[in-house]
Amino acid sequence: MEETKVVKFGGSSLADAKQFKKVADIILSDETRRFVVASAPGKRYIEDIKVTDMLYGCYEKAAAGENYEKEFQMIKDRFNGIIKELEIKDFSLDEDFETIKAAFAHMAGRDYAASRGEYLNSKVLAKYLGFDFIDPAGCIFFDEQGKFDWETTKKKLEPKLKSVKKAVVPGFYGSMPNGTIKTFSRGGSDVTGSIVARAIQAKLYENWTDVSGILVCDPRIVNSPEPISTITYRELRELAYMGFNVLHEDAVFPVRAAGIPINIRNTNIPTDPGTMIVSESAEPCKHIITGIAGKKGLSVINIEKDRMNGEVGFGRNVLRALEKNNVSFEHMPSGIDTMSVVIATDALRGKEQNILDEIKTRVNPDHIDIENNLALIAVVGRGMKSTRGTAAILFKALADARVNIKMIDQGSSELNIIVGVEEEDFEVAIKAIYKNFVNIER
Ligand code: ASP
Repeated sequence: MEETKVVKFGGSSLADAKQFKKVADIILSDETRRFVVASAPGKRYIEDIKVTDMLYGCYEKAAAGENYEKEFQMIKDRFNGIIKELEIKDFSLDEDFETIKAAFAHMAGRDYAASRGEYLNSKVLAKYLGFDFIDPAGCIFFDEQGKFDWETTKKKLEPKLKSVKKAVVPGFYGSMPNGTIKTFSRGGSDVTGSIVARAIQAKLYENWTDVSGILVCDPRIVNSPEPISTITYRELRELAYMGFNVLHEDAVFPVRAAGIPINIRNTNIPTDPGTMIVSESAEPCKHIITGIAGKKGLSVINIEKDRMNGEVGFGRNVLRALEKNNVSFEHMPSGIDTMSVVIATDALRGKEQNILDEIKTRVNPDHIDIENNLALIAVVGRGMKSTRGTAAILFKALADARVNIKMIDQGSSELNIIVGVEEEDFEVAIKAIYKNFVNIER
């Protein structure tokens, strides 16, 4: 549908009646916002508990055969509080509460329990907006292995969406082939929004949250970093891998396949344009780089052997040693006579000696060691390809900040440069990169 927008609201946007009103204003201000995907009520203040977590806790008690009356009442109170404050007439969730409570007693499953937050919240929102309610239990499906099943979903979801004018769809869950409820992983309402957008061939998927878009880097490291106005799916993926978590990882795939852009927006400041996530951008980048992200907690296995380059199967043998120990690697920069394998320290724990012995037996290196406390920083930007000297600026920035670079890796797509630094240099390095590429002092 040419003009249709799918809008997803996260838990903080629907945490209480005040937030519901903001959400309704946003939806009703634009006729094309026809399909709304809702999360369960999130936190109203820092120490508050998300309804999803209350449901997990409550079900745990029920499953253990303990009394869960008090926990269930608290969940009912959250919803009843919202309904009362919104002054929704002729509406009650009492029947649903009874059904859910009974299902808890009959061990309906952890996923069923968690999904009820989205289910109940969407019923309230649909009534408040005067929209239809579509239960994803009947139109979003997983296969026998628990993997999302687009083909089956498409057959049911597309006609269902087309049969109504406007509707609210609960996020986070769907059905297994045997009819039981299954959820996506945490934060999965983002994925539902993306699936709905693809099924209706929306013009735009708006993802409303509590930040004004994606920031160039972590605001805990750099004070008030600039927001990114446009980012491509590929750039986002690179940054997400390094720890950017604005959106559920799997939310990108359905809309990306259909070429539908995502707009990250702020429910509390709806006038902010937010960040557009697009397939390809013709818009020139404001800076050479789009974002900076990184992660700590990495180890590197350094292997040296003269004439390694001529030895057929050398790399395969090294990786075979990892495979045998059930360890995956993150990066593998190599030189002519050296090869380094970067691995998450947690994944390596307890297996170090086995892996070293195995590599020694397989490739007989001149030298091998493991270094810990490594951090990786990815400098990502589609603008790099067309700009000379990006690496020079990056390395000079790090040298001036007295950061020692331990490793360099540039993807062949010229979309990113990854540098490895000591963990203790991580924050200094990110600050220096930001200053030299984004907040340039002239
Ligand atoms: N309510 C679920 C969670 O807290 C899903 C979501 O909000 O996207 O993870």
